[in-house]
Parts: sequence; C-alpha cells; structure tokens
Amino acid sequence: SSGRAGANAQRFLLDALRDLDGSLREMGSRLFVVRGCPEEVLPHLFHAWGTTRLTFEVDSEPLARRRDAAVAELAARHGVEVIREVSHTLYDTERVLALNDGKAPLTYNRLQSLLASLGPPEKPAPALTWEHLQGCHTPCQVSHDADYGVPTLEELCQDPAEVGPRLYPGGETAALARLDTLMERTAWVCGFKKPETEPTSLSPSTTVLSPYLRFGCLSVRTFWWRLDEVYRGHSQPPVSLHGQLLWREFFYTAGAGIPNFDRMVGNPVCLQVDWDDNPQHLRAWREGRTGYPFIDAIMTQLRAEGWIHHLARHAVACFLTRGDLWVSWEEGLKVFEELLLDADWSLNAGNWLWLSGSAFFHRYFHVYSPVAFGKKTDRDGAYIRKYLPVLKDFPAEYIYEPWKAPRAVQERAGCLVGTHYPQPIVEHRAASERNLGRMK
Ligand code: FAD
Repeated sequence: SSGRAGANAQRFLLDALRDLDGSLREMGSRLFVVRGCPEEVLPHLFHAWGTTRLTFEVDSEPLARRRDAAVAELAARHGVEVIREVSHTLYDTERVLALNDGKAPLTYNRLQSLLASLGPPEKPAPALTWEHLQGCHTPCQVSHDADYGVPTLEELCQDPAEVGPRLYPGGETAALARLDTLMERTAWVCGFKKPETEPTSLSPSTTVLSPYLRFGCLSVRTFWWRLDEVYRGHSQPPVSLHGQLLWREFFYTAGAGIPNFDRMVGNPVCLQVDWDDNPQHLRAWREGRTGYPFIDAIMTQLRAEGWIHHLARHAVACFLTRGDLWVSWEEGLKVFEELLLDADWSLNAGNWLWLSGSAFFHRYFHVYSPVAFGKKTDRDGAYIRKYLPVLKDFPAEYIYEPWKAPRAVQERAGCLVGTHYPQPIVEHRAASERNLGRMK
C-alpha cells in the first residue's frame, strides 16, 4: 500500500522499523525485515524456519485483502495456522457492515447509531514486555543486519537528498511521547473543536498523530482510551477528538464496503463528472505554482514536511477540483498519496470524494476562496511568508493577491509577479462560477 509513497513517508516508515527493532532488542529479540513479494518469500520461510503459526493484522484495503487471502491460502497449504486480528480500527468493520445489511453507512449519524449498538470500542491489548518473551528464543545469525536489517532509503530507490526536515520522527517511541505530551494539555483536549483549529498556524493546531496511526506506531484504541481518561466536561463528536477518530472509522467502513472506493468509474456512491484533463494545471497545483499564495504555501508545506492541516487540505482539494481547476479528484489523491506522511487508502479516498463534492457532501455551492479563506485566521499572511519566502516582503494588503499590487510595491518587495512569482493560473471568480454551473 505504500507503493506510491514518496521519500518523506518512506523515511518515516524506516524510522518506525528501526524503533521497533530497538524495542525488540531490549526484550532479547529482533525484527526480521524480509525482502520480496510475500506470496513468494513466505512459503520459502515456512519451510526454512519450520513455521507453525502466522499472525497479522486485518487490512481492509483491496490490494492488501487480495495479498492476505493468497498468503493465508499458502499458509494453509503448508500446514501453518493463521491468526488474523482486527486492531487497525476501533471496531471490526466487517461486523459494522453486517449490522447494516452488508452496506456501508453513508452518514456519520448512521455510523454512530450502529456503533452505539456495539458498545464502546475494545481496550487495546497490553503492551508486549520482556516477561512475555521469557521462554522464547530468536535465532539470530551474525549476518542478521545484511539479511534482515532495516533497509536504507537508497535501497528503496529514494534519494536521501529529497527528504525534508524530520519534524515528526517515525516510530512507537515518538508516537507515545507525542500522545503523552498532548494528553497533559487537559483543557485543550477537553475543549477540542475541530472547526476552530487553524490551518494557518505556524505550529500544528491539531495532534499530528495521523502518520503514527497510519503506520501502526500508535493504536487507535490506545488513543481512544487515553482520551477517555482525560475527558471531563468535554466537547462531543463530530468536532471532538473522539469525533475525529469516528471520522476515521467512518471512512474505513466506507472503504471496506463500497466497491472501487478510490475511483470514480464503478464507484456507486460517486458523482460521475466530466473532469478536465489539464496536465499543466495539475502540475502547477502539485508544485505550488498556481499564483495563489495561500494554495502555493500549503502545497509547499506538504512537499517539504509531509503534513498539512485538515482545513488546508480542504482548501487545496477544493481548488483542484470543483472550486477552480476542474481536475479530477483522483489526480489529487495520487499526489497526496505520494506526499503525505499519513497517506492512507481509505481516508485519502473518502476525503477526496467529500471535498470534490463527489460523495457524502452535497453543498457543492460552498466553495473556498483561495484568497479569503486563509485571511480569516491569518490576516498578515505569516503562514505564506514562512512557506513562500519570495513573497515575504509584500505588505499584508497584497500578500494573498500579489498580482494586484502596483508595480512600485512589487519592486519594493523584491518580487515581480510574472517573473519571480507566477500570475494566477485561473481567475477565481470566473472559474468558480463556471464550475458551479457544471456542478449543478
Ligand atoms: P486530528 O484533528 O488531531 O485528529 C486525530 C485523528 O483523527 C487523525 O490523526 C486521523 O486519524 C483522524 N481524523 C481526523 N480528521 C479526519 C478525517 N477528516 N477523516 C478521517 N480521519 C480523520 N487523513 C489521513 O490520515 N490520511 C490521509 O491520507 C488523508 N487524506 C485526506 C485528504 C483530503 C483531501 C482531506 C480533506 C483530508 C484527508 N485526511 C487524511 C483527513 C485529515 O485531514 C487528517 O486525518 C488530519 O488532518 C490529520 O491531522 P491530525 O492527526 O492532527 O488530526
């Protein structure tokens, strides 16, 4: 599933594997990273290692399901017992689907009422300790690092020069430390209301636990129950932190129950739209060269740091699709898949369906302005100045619309629009009005 992941996400994963190896070493064991296609290498290892049991986490992504089914069949053929556990989601999505006559619930309220009938989510299993591994023996050769060590970025064909600052180091250790620090801020946790958090704040205004949840460094059940311990007179779903985890659950259930969830064609809940094929516009969006500083700053943060705020994702996703460029959400999804540290098959597709007005969300006439939206929380454009230093000396009056600045102002700012920073690639008002008509 990390096939399209870029250098930042791959580094996150390798950090996480090294951290896991470190924890296992402390318990007298090791991590074995096996190279190759699971269907080919596992039967070989069953034989070489005399394997009797194989256990893995249930994964609802279609590619993973096919792989896991093939592996389970091979295991059975080799007399290996297979143990599959649900632990990536709060609930067993198959059970939720079954409760809803085999269909994915299409609204958050519907999901909530189904979950209410199941009671609270399961508690996380206790963490593995040294005691658990008493009596276990991990045969390790001197060649372990060469044979089964954690690979390097180069081995994964990634250019180490391409990674950005390591703001969110991968691994369970970092995840639990981040969770601990956040849970100490009791008032913030209890008062958390997602729509009130700010896409333009220079340090994240939400938890940034998403990459840790995505790679299994943090169990969603651990997160849920830690919140439960902290909660007193707290905010409620959908805007609370529990509410955020229920959004995650909502899109996981949808992804598991709706065919072709990550595509328009063959996806029964997806509006069929004649999106434009416009590689120039797509590239400008991807590379942060649309001429709209708020959009370009967000895409720059995404490329460099691998994480952007939820409402920033709203702004750029709306801009690419129904708002301005009329480019298919599937193209945006692929770019996010490469650049996000938290790129997650179900959540990425579900949210792109939503933002493009293709499913779940029907107020398509509510379009974000690439100028006014950022200004609401950042009148002076500090966020733009941080990520687009070329614009840093523009007066606040023009920072969101530098093309409107008189020539003398552009000269004083040391940045001529059209030379040092692009002209807007579309005129927002005209484009969004035309698109509204098409959407109707
Ligand atoms: P917090 O607000 O602190 O929320 C805590 C956790 O709740 C998150 O880590 C996440 O697991 C879950 N969550 C929060 N919001 C959502 C949501 N809208 N949908 C599903 N789960 C949610 N999130 C991903 O993890 N992976 C993706 O690939 C992804 N793609 C997205 C694409 C688009 C176009 C949009 C608009 C949103 C996408 N999101 C995705 C959802 C959301 O933006 C991120 O989960 C969130 O910003 C992560 O930051 P956080 O951990 O600080 O969130």
